[in-house]
Amino acid sequence: MAIEGEFDLENRLVAQNEIPEDRDSDNKLRPKTLSDYIGQEKAKDNLSVFIDAAKLRGESLDHVLLYGPPGLGKTTLSYIIASELGVNIRATSGPAIEKPRDLVALLTNLGEGDVLFIDEIHRLSRQVEEILYPAMEDFVIDIIIGQGPSARSIRLPLKHFTLIGATTRAGQLTTPLRDRFGVLLKLELYTPRELTAIVKRSAEILGVSVTEDAALEIASRSRGTPRVANRILRRVSDFALVLADGEITLDVARTALAKLEIDGLGLDNTDRRMLRAIIEYYGGGPVGLETLAATVGEEAITIEDVYEPYLMQIGFLSRTPRGRVATKMAYDHLGLPYRPAKTQSSVFDSDTE
Ligand code: ADP
Repeated sequence: MAIEGEFDLENRLVAQNEIPEDRDSDNKLRPKTLSDYIGQEKAKDNLSVFIDAAKLRGESLDHVLLYGPPGLGKTTLSYIIASELGVNIRATSGPAIEKPRDLVALLTNLGEGDVLFIDEIHRLSRQVEEILYPAMEDFVIDIIIGQGPSARSIRLPLKHFTLIGATTRAGQLTTPLRDRFGVLLKLELYTPRELTAIVKRSAEILGVSVTEDAALEIASRSRGTPRVANRILRRVSDFALVLADGEITLDVARTALAKLEIDGLGLDNTDRRMLRAIIEYYGGGPVGLETLAATVGEEAITIEDVYEPYLMQIGFLSRTPRGRVATKMAYDHLGLPYRPAKTQSSVFDSDTE
């Protein structure tokens, strides 16, 4: 069964993952120092101690794993760590490292103390991952030279480096890989106040004027995610240019957000359709993740990474052992009469986490 309407996830305005139009402005808007990096106080406090200690000892920083939903600033933070350490950074991603030799090339080119940033590190292949173990632990790699009976393994020393891994799903990392990170930092969704500060900072860089209440309005509808806040800011500033000589006032922000069909809580049509599907097709749930994914024509992993964290944070969706359930708040928000979800046996599948 498929439900009506387009699911244009690639270009969703409130999607937390990067869409093509973000790329340029993401770079321009990226804070360059820890003090410019707004929010994530706990992660920042820990990091600055570790960075100072590494500098005092004259050693490389311990390997760092950053995890949390897309768009929260993992890449940004990695660049900041490298710059605070005063070292170079090489950035790549799990899917981009296809062969063990690709990783060997990256590792052998690192200078003393450099940072290797691997985004989506949970997507490394097993073979590639195995090269990382001795590299992370002892700063060596084992290479096999030759073939057949004459093949032999040689051990190559590496410069001391820091691996920074970023992932949306720490649970998918293998235990041997996870255990080799000395510093594990979870990034949290941002509060509207923190996002307001981010919107104001970005507006200044982009040269657009935004009033305090308009910045808060944008922040409150950005799903706790800086990337979404910046994207909405860009769109709203287009409206401001046409409607109000470029100034983003509360009125302009509200009009623009209404036109963009982003509601008071930052939900767009896609979120509303997904909640509606749970309620109208599955009696409010529980509905298994795979079934839901098939219904909305999306991958289960995207639903888990992109839609769910925010819908759960605002209390619209809960995960039960037998599947996803829409809460009364979700019914109320959509203006649908509440019928409690079935708690007895469900005819739908019941995948667990
Ligand atoms: P991730 O790697 O977690 O997907 P990014 O580091 O690419 O996220 O961040 C997306 C955008 O959000 C960046 O370009 C940056 O402009 C903005 N951003 C992220 N975190 C912050 C922050 N703490 N303060 C200000 N801007 C931020």
